[in-house]
Amino acid sequence: MPAVRYDAIIIGAGHNGLTAAAYLARAGRTVLVLERRHLVGGAAVTEEVFPGFHFSVCSYVVSLLRPEIIRELDLPRHGLEILPLDGTFTPMPHGDYLWRVNDHAKTRREIARHSRVDAEAYDEYGRAMVAMGRFVKPILGMRPPDPTSLNPAGLKQLLGLLRRFQQLPAQDQYNQVQLMTMSAVDFLDQWFETDVLKATMSASGIIGTFLGVRSPGTAYVLLHHYMGEIDGAFRSWGFSRGGTGAISNAIASAAREAGAEIRTNVGVAEIRSSNGTAVGVTLANGDELDASLVLSSVDPRLTFLKLLDPRDLPTEFADDVRRFKFRGSSGKVNLALDALPNFTSLPGPGPHLRGAISISPSVDHMERAYDQAKYGAFSTRPYIDMVIPTLTDPSVAPPGKHILSCFVQYAPYALASGTWDEQREAFGDAVIDTLAGFAPNIRDIILHRQVLTPLDLEREFGLSEGNIFQGELTLEQLFFLRPAPGWAQYTTPIRNLWMCGSGAHPGGGIMGAPGRNAALKILKK
Ligand SMILES: Cc1cc2nc3c(=O)[nH]c(=O)nc-3n(C[C@H](O)[C@H](O)[C@H](O)COP(=O)(O)OP(=O)(O)OC[C@H]3O[C@@H](n4cnc5c(N)ncnc54)[C@H](O)[C@@H]3O)c2cc1C
Repeated sequence: MPAVRYDAIIIGAGHNGLTAAAYLARAGRTVLVLERRHLVGGAAVTEEVFPGFHFSVCSYVVSLLRPEIIRELDLPRHGLEILPLDGTFTPMPHGDYLWRVNDHAKTRREIARHSRVDAEAYDEYGRAMVAMGRFVKPILGMRPPDPTSLNPAGLKQLLGLLRRFQQLPAQDQYNQVQLMTMSAVDFLDQWFETDVLKATMSASGIIGTFLGVRSPGTAYVLLHHYMGEIDGAFRSWGFSRGGTGAISNAIASAAREAGAEIRTNVGVAEIRSSNGTAVGVTLANGDELDASLVLSSVDPRLTFLKLLDPRDLPTEFADDVRRFKFRGSSGKVNLALDALPNFTSLPGPGPHLRGAISISPSVDHMERAYDQAKYGAFSTRPYIDMVIPTLTDPSVAPPGKHILSCFVQYAPYALASGTWDEQREAFGDAVIDTLAGFAPNIRDIILHRQVLTPLDLEREFGLSEGNIFQGELTLEQLFFLRPAPGWAQYTTPIRNLWMCGSGAHPGGGIMGAPGRNAALKILKK
């Protein structure tokens, strides 16, 4: 029997690999997706970690998933359902709190309780961010033009960008430049005076980076995370019913329906190339598979330095990949609870538990958490972003029980002393101790806990150095620089090898954009 030759083999069944598969299969290509783990989803996955408790093990909320993907792949028909996440509750140490909700008037009143000036500024800030988000948003779906190239299509795109920038009102132009250069806190200082408000808002500037809220460049990341909110006025941070794995499952279902084959428990050991052209892959069990195109949805380090022999790459490119920064800085603590946490500052169950709960009581709390990480220790009083998905989607836990999902920063991949295997439980304890300062009943209601360190994210999910976005989302690693200067359009120096995961433009988050952009470029060729 002649060996099967696929039009495309995709390495990794994270949501981006699956998205690329769906688009290619819908265009009639024969597609095979190979996933190392026992299930699809990558960092967007739901797993029954303890009997009856279905954790969104890594990513836990969704906002950036491109609406065109939901539409074009008809994801609701494949089971996708996004349930709204209402607002952010920030408990404070001395009995007060800040609770912003989706109801604009209520949020204004709440901010005015802290500062009337800030309540005014909040509206202005919202308008400015929406304007900047509108400017940046089309870039997400773009194949970034290389400014050093004289390629006419690229020049036209650059010119278009420049023209759009010039058409922005002067204030928005200034804001845009400030966003690109300032720290999240410095940027927010220009608008607000309330410390807890700035601390909570600045948090989205540091997610997935090894930077502090006062580090220059973090202001831009605010915008990246704000982007989802402009799809439908604050509505669009949400839970996926069944956990984030349900998003990946819906995309996988669309891909299968279009004819894609998806195999799990199949690790790729090597990308085979001949004369600088990818010709297929070798599996961990030694089997060889042939394909006209190979798409990698795993990160640039794994793709170019592990699955390929870097000596087959141009030296300059291989050096750029070696320099690409991962520096994982986050961990995850997933708790199975017997009851709800009871916050001293707003006791009892209530709607404040249905949205995000942010342990970000002050800018100093945030910056001190980073100070420890800078010198190679996990934060003993970390920033924590929590959700209780069971209040919105009870299907993920046994009746009456709850899940508390805690995203934690900082947990530096490189520890100054000891190993993560030795420090995992101490890190988990630091998270619980921090929580207990705000919700003292927490220790009594924990049934089970899962602690994920950056080392666990690397080992289990294939995220180098545990970086949650397959490489830091910092300005020097975005747009035409992601993953390397000159190679941001999903092609690579190896012919017929393409990138289609978060390590490519426009980066991480459950967005699907790299997968879709890569597939559309392949189909346009
Ligand atoms: C702890 C954590 C929390 C997060 N929280 C959020 C959030 O709340 N909201 C949000 O939008 N984003 C969040 N993110 C980011 C988001 O989940 C990721 O950016 C996104 O899921 C990455 O998707 P991907 O398809 O590009 O890559 P991945 O999900 O990394 O998929 C790559 C796949 O390749 C597989 N693989 C690796 N090596 C091989 C190999 N050799 N052979 C075959 N398969 C291989 C992996 O097992 C994996 O399934 C979070 C991430 C983490 C880790």
